[in-house]
Amino acid sequence: MWFVSLSSRILRSYSHVLGRRGCNTAAFMPEAAGFEGVSSRSSLQDFSVSNSDTFWSAVARHRLSWISPFTAVQDCDLSQGRIKWFDGGKLNVSINCLDRHVHTSPERVALIWEKDEPGSEVKITYRQLLEMTCRLGNLLRRHGVKKGDCVTIYMPACPLAVASMLACARIGAAHNVVFAGFSAEALSERIRDAQSTVVITVNQGVRGGRVIELKKTVDTAVQSCPTVKQVFVAMRTENPVIMTDRDVPMEEEMMKEAVVCEPAAMDSEDILFLLYTSGSTGKPKGLVHTQAGYLLYAALTHRYVFSYNDGDIFGCVADIGWITGHSYAVYGPLANGGTTVLFESTPIYPDPGRYWEMVQRLKINQFYGAPTAIRLLLKYGNHWVQKYDRSTLKTLGTVGEPINTEAWQWYYSVVGDKRCPVVDTWWQTETGGICIAPRPSQPDAEIVPGMAMRPFFGIKPVLMDSEGKVATSNNTSGALCIAQPWPGMARTIHNDHQRFTATYCQPYPGYFFTGDGAYRSEEGYYQITGRLDDVINVSGHRIGTAEIEDVVNQCPAVAESAVIGYSHNIKGQGVYAFVVLKKSVDTKEQELSCQL
Ligand code: AMP
Repeated sequence: MWFVSLSSRILRSYSHVLGRRGCNTAAFMPEAAGFEGVSSRSSLQDFSVSNSDTFWSAVARHRLSWISPFTAVQDCDLSQGRIKWFDGGKLNVSINCLDRHVHTSPERVALIWEKDEPGSEVKITYRQLLEMTCRLGNLLRRHGVKKGDCVTIYMPACPLAVASMLACARIGAAHNVVFAGFSAEALSERIRDAQSTVVITVNQGVRGGRVIELKKTVDTAVQSCPTVKQVFVAMRTENPVIMTDRDVPMEEEMMKEAVVCEPAAMDSEDILFLLYTSGSTGKPKGLVHTQAGYLLYAALTHRYVFSYNDGDIFGCVADIGWITGHSYAVYGPLANGGTTVLFESTPIYPDPGRYWEMVQRLKINQFYGAPTAIRLLLKYGNHWVQKYDRSTLKTLGTVGEPINTEAWQWYYSVVGDKRCPVVDTWWQTETGGICIAPRPSQPDAEIVPGMAMRPFFGIKPVLMDSEGKVATSNNTSGALCIAQPWPGMARTIHNDHQRFTATYCQPYPGYFFTGDGAYRSEEGYYQITGRLDDVINVSGHRIGTAEIEDVVNQCPAVAESAVIGYSHNIKGQGVYAFVVLKKSVDTKEQELSCQL
């Protein structure tokens, strides 16, 4: 019994906790019941770091459904850039996200598609999502997509986009979701790098009441992508688009397929997806996430950082084109058998009450958004929030950039009526899931505004000083590194492992370097201070200054340019480009325009 094995010293130090709340590890995390010396959530965190293999092995066995069990928990050497978890194990991510829940609760709602048009939400049950996924998996297979291929998905948040991701996982292909706001050029660069033979898109997107010609963008993009053989086109609007021999009408063809699709047995370390993100050079990096470790980490963080309980309705408003959409609109909630909202619109359409009207109508329990949207909404005034019933809310979250105290206070006091903990979650595309956040901790543990605060289970943050040594004291700042591997971390950069090791593993050998700076307070809490490299963060989106310079320099009139970020009161950072024009250019005569 875990309680009996406590030393009297530990018992004394936690007696206030045990006495008041009867800290019950087994109720909090059933698989942790046998962990020696674990009597509170903070001692569970200590255990997860110092007994990493025992912790992750128990969690992986308890929370994932395996086709065959793993034989080794981890085989990692950060100094070499070698990261392997759960080797020898086989599983299928779509079984974990769908079939096992269909087995127990087929009619439970998996997705609530909050369409751009307010009040027109669509609910999809686990049974329906599995059917969609299987039909699509069969369709992809019929068109020659197989294990090892990578399918590019250029779609807004919608059930067919989620089914497309899961269909890839079903048949063993990787997916590469590209944010459906990116230009044809950005899309084609990502399709070429991923060497996709198939692209999935919609005829048109709809956002903030505006129609966006996504199929046309794909048509332009694939002109310079010789690998692309098929473009699957789903119909988001009723407007027809020009279809060529290359294009497949998706819904029509899906309906001809069987609703059963044999799942591929995937190795833990097979690729689940690529996701491109900005670095400090002009070329975006295709970060690689694999099957078991990523899914486990997304599921565990979703459940514990947000205190997600069965039956809750989880509202992450990030687009599926970003890692937040992958981990907390799709994989985390679905692995947990949850109900997740897919938000297609904007925070101010048709008016600045959109989020809170949606919270009232859908009865959302956890709301997860970006500081930039909160700063924007704060300016419109409290009445847009207060006219709606938000009593279902239990946890509020933010991600993507630092949240300033004013925005934090407004979120906490006005949106959450001072009832809901606000979790400022720090993580990045590379980490796969949340690494530092105020929760999980004891339910009444203090939360400091604007601080991510505490490491998640299995995470050991360290700060490096200017000499590259680990800073041991508190009340200090440094380069944020993570001292030991965790299952959710990216494994490599697609086709460029050398860049992966050079960027993340070599700056501080033996540690994972995040690229961020952080401050550790007197109490040992972490606060992220911003990027240490040439990456700026506009509205929570990472952009490399070199990437923008590359685009600006393509403008025929431009000789050279330099891009910097500046402080912006809503977007966090804005972009300034200093441009030197070619001598031959007459600015009085020529209009200078280039499409960024
Ligand atoms: P991305 O990979 O696009 O999600 O961007 C990750 C980057 O966003 C991090 O490296 C940080 O610079 C920033 N970021 C994410 N979450 C936070 C947060 N809670 N506080 C401060 N910065 C954050």
